Amino acid sequence: MFPYISLTTIYFLTIKQILLTVRTGLTDSICPGEWYKVIDKIKKCTKCKLHKTRRNPVPGEGPCNAKIMFVGEAPGGKEDETGRPFVGAAGQFLTELLGMAGLRREDVFITNILKCRPPNNRDPEPDEIEACKPYLVRQIRLISPKVIVTLGRYAGRTLLGDAGVKWTSMSRMHGKIFSVELYGVKLKIMPTYHPAAALYYPKLRPVIVRDFKEVLKALVEELANEGKRGESGRPRTILDFLEKS
Ligand code: SF4
Repeated sequence: MFPYISLTTIYFLTIKQILLTVRTGLTDSICPGEWYKVIDKIKKCTKCKLHKTRRNPVPGEGPCNAKIMFVGEAPGGKEDETGRPFVGAAGQFLTELLGMAGLRREDVFITNILKCRPPNNRDPEPDEIEACKPYLVRQIRLISPKVIVTLGRYAGRTLLGDAGVKWTSMSRMHGKIFSVELYGVKLKIMPTYHPAAALYYPKLRPVIVRDFKEVLKALVEELANEGKRGESGRPRTILDFLEKS
């Protein structure tokens, strides 16, 4: 009887996970039940005024056990239309930047401070950030990444501020690595410009490229080597580490 009940339970849990995965389109890995609950709550959320104007909430995308997380400001038009983060022009540039750091988009988790689009892509408002932040906090605790890259000043100021680091300005803080404890997770934060900023202001392009190509790449390689320490042989690739750890 017991094995029968166990297998039935496992069967229904698996079916539930598959249905939720199909519904959310978020992950193809096995994630804790809490993970799906958070996504479900975001999908039904009416905690701030943005729920009235959004077409689709955008919870985020990527493995629930990603080692590196990217946090932007808020979904834009394309994201609102599709329910997926960073799929417009800025998203294409982000995918390009990931490649420069030796990363693939499918290996990292990408989300925003706000899960719903502000009308006309206006800046996030403080009450919206406060209302939405608990979802990001849950995501960070569940994913427990080793690195968070913040994209844009709202993400940088919010997460570094919550980690006890005083925000000064993007021009001073971008491309620096901060070792912090954020919401109970020990990790490194690298703030950088939002990819959309580089599209609007071409002068910023080499700056953000450098942050990814030099600073983030070196950090990812350092993590890869840490992960391999004590094992025989040399690391094959950065992704080899990310997949194994
Ligand atoms: S932005 Fe966040 S808090 Fe506001 S409705 Fe969307 S999910 Fe809820």
